[in-house]
Amino acid sequence: MSDRVIICDFDGTITETDNIIAIMKRFAPPEWDALKNDVLSQRISIQEGVGKMFQLLPSSSKDEIVNYILNHAQIRSGFKEFVQYTKKNNIPLFIVSGGIDFFVYPLLQGLIEEEQIYCNRANFSNENIQIEWPFSCDDSCSNDCGCCKPSLIRKLTKCTQEKIVIGDSITDLQAAKLADYVIARDLLLEKCQDLHLPHQPFTTFYDVINILEKLEEVKA
Ligand code: MG
Ligand code: ZN
Repeated sequence: MSDRVIICDFDGTITETDNIIAIMKRFAPPEWDALKNDVLSQRISIQEGVGKMFQLLPSSSKDEIVNYILNHAQIRSGFKEFVQYTKKNNIPLFIVSGGIDFFVYPLLQGLIEEEQIYCNRANFSNENIQIEWPFSCDDSCSNDCGCCKPSLIRKLTKCTQEKIVIGDSITDLQAAKLADYVIARDLLLEKCQDLHLPHQPFTTFYDVINILEKLEEVKA
């Protein structure tokens, strides 16, 4: 087995849909929609947009939000088997997420160790929810990513390792550019096609396992 490392997104990749959008749709006042559009059109950074969106929510709604997400979010099929595959083959797996600890950890509980998860943090000690950013951009990134995926790749991987990035969205693009190989769906798939990044599409994590096994055979 080669020296390989996997960096995997959470929202829309491990889960079927985006949990921040789901939380805002259900709990936020209408102002959230303008913030979302400002982020999508890059008028404001992801860090500023996500921080301001969560500030619209009272800290007292924490339990209700967690329950809502646990009842509504769906883990993409094959994820458990995929985690087992990485363990069996000694492939380091890092979940790198722009999501927030208070819903990411409960959704992944029993599936993967918390030490493998890198995401943003929520602070509930004020009136409204305050987001904290333990993994913000290093000196080589000026995007105000919030949770900076390229910075984490630089920190967590060695240059000799074959880097596989799994993701679904524009928020994975800078990480995908640092990857040796991308496993993509949705918008990230379109971007990989446009930019001719080495990639394959996936729908379930059973597809991901197949792709990883095939890549290994090609090199053997
Ligand atoms: Mg995503
Ligand atoms: Zn960054």
